Amino acid sequence: MLLYNSLTHQKDEFQTREPNRVKMYTCGPTVYHFAHIGNLRTYMMEDVLEKYLTYSGYQVMRIMNITDVGHLTSDGDTGDDKMLKGAKREHKTVMEIAKFYTDAFFADCEKLNIKKPEYIQPATGCIPEYIHMIETLLQKGYAYEAGGNIYFDTSKLEQYYRFHDFKEEDLEVGVREGVEGDENKRNKADFVLWFTKSKFDDQELKWESPWGLGYPGWHIECSCISMKFAGEYLDLHCGGIDNAFPHHTNEIAQSEAYLGHPWCPQWFHVLHLNDETGKMSKSKGEFLTVSLLEQKGFSPLAYRFFCMQSHYRKTLVFSWENLKNAQTAYDKLIAKIRTLLDTQDAVDDAKKAELLGAFTAAMDNDLNTAQAITVLYDVLKADTTAATKLACVAEIDRVLSLNLIENAKALGAEDAAQEIPAEVLALVEQRKEARKAKDFAQADALRDQIAALGWQIRETRQGTEITKIS
Ligand code: AMP
Ligand code: ZN
Repeated sequence: MLLYNSLTHQKDEFQTREPNRVKMYTCGPTVYHFAHIGNLRTYMMEDVLEKYLTYSGYQVMRIMNITDVGHLTSDGDTGDDKMLKGAKREHKTVMEIAKFYTDAFFADCEKLNIKKPEYIQPATGCIPEYIHMIETLLQKGYAYEAGGNIYFDTSKLEQYYRFHDFKEEDLEVGVREGVEGDENKRNKADFVLWFTKSKFDDQELKWESPWGLGYPGWHIECSCISMKFAGEYLDLHCGGIDNAFPHHTNEIAQSEAYLGHPWCPQWFHVLHLNDETGKMSKSKGEFLTVSLLEQKGFSPLAYRFFCMQSHYRKTLVFSWENLKNAQTAYDKLIAKIRTLLDTQDAVDDAKKAELLGAFTAAMDNDLNTAQAITVLYDVLKADTTAATKLACVAEIDRVLSLNLIENAKALGAEDAAQEIPAEVLALVEQRKEARKAKDFAQADALRDQIAALGWQIRETRQGTEITKIS
C-alpha cells in the first residue's frame, strides 16, 4: 500500500516494524466543547485508514489520548486555558467538563461509525510518566528551567523542523498583535514541558512535581501516552494537518531526545474541512456539530459519505447544499442496494475478485476513498449477479462503514426500486444525444418534458441521476 508520508513528502510503501502488526497513534480531542464536524472528518479518515489496514490483514493496535488538561500550544494562546474556559462557561469543574465532552465525543463517533481505539488514555492519568520523561530530558541536557517552567531546548537538536521548512523569524510572536513572547525561552521554537508559572495562573488542576506545583505542557502527553502502550517505536502517527506544527514537531523532538533513536517513521495528516467563510471554528458563526446535522434532518452517515467522496489530502468545503447532495446520493445508493436484496442467485467468485481488486487498487493508492466510491457505483452497474454485487458491497463497507446493507434492509420494500417509466428513460436517452450534439435548447426542452412526467434529472460524476419529484 502506498501512503503519503508527511515526513518524507511523498507516497511511501507502508511499512511496519513487526510483520502484519501496526502500532498507530492518534491525537485525540481536547474535551472542552463538542467536536465540530471538521474534527470529526479527521477522525473519520483515520478510522478508514485503520479499517483498511485491518482489511489488508494487519492487526492494528490503536492508541488515542484525551486532552483533559491544559491545551496551551504557543505564546499565541490568549485568554483562559481552553478547559478552564469550558468549566467557567458551564459552571462546572474541569473534570466534569472533561467527562461530559469525552462522552459526547464518543457518542458522535458512534453515530459516524468511527471505531473506538483499543487504548484511550486521558492526559490527566499519566502525570508520573510526564515527570519521568521531563527529568530524563533535563538529565540529558535537552531541557532547562527558566522562570519556574521547564522548557525543551530545540537548539540541542540537529534537526528540529520535520514537516515544514520554517524560518525562525516567521515564528516571531511579537509581530502578531496582542501576542506576547515568552521572555524565559532561549530559542523562539522552545516549548514548555512543565508549567509552574504561566499566564494562566488560575489553572484548576495542578500536581506536585520536582519543580513545584504545576501542570504539563500539551505536547508531552502524546509522547508519553504513545510509549506507555506501544513502547519505544510507533509505526504510524495521525492527526489533522494543523497538528503538524508545532504539536507533532514537538512530539518528535522530545520523544527522540528521550529515546535516543528515531521514533515514528510514518505521519498521516488529514487536511481540513472548512466552511464557506474559511476556517471552521467552535466559537465563530454556526457551530457545526453532528447534532446540528441531525436537527436539520441529515443522517450522520450522509456526512460520512460526503467525506468519503473526497480525498483526505484535499481541503474539503462544507456547505448545506453539498451535504444535501450527499444525502440524496446516499439515499439513492441505499435504494439501489435494496433492489438487490430479494434476488436469489449465486456469487460469481471470479467477478467478485475482479471488482474488489479495483477497490483495493484505489485504497492502496494513498487511501483514495473518492475512487473507492466510484468503484462502489461500478459494482452496482456491473454485468453480474445480484449476489456478487451484494458480496462486494459488504466487503467494501467493512472499510467505508456506511451501513449500506443494514440500511438497505431497513428500507421498506415499497420505497425501494423507483420504477422509472420507459417513456422517461426514452426521453433521457434523447436528451443525452442532444447534449452530445451540443443542442442545449433541445436538451433543456427534453428536461422540461421529463419534469412534466414527474421526474428530475441531474448530471453527476457517476452519470445521469433520475429521481422522482416528491
Ligand atoms: P482538537 O480537539 O482541537 O485537539 O482537534 C482534534 C482533531 O481535529 C485534531 O486532529 C485536529 O488536527 C483536527 N482538526 C481541527 N480542526 C479541523 C478541521 N477544520 N478539519 C479537520 N480536522 C480538524
Ligand atoms: Zn498529539
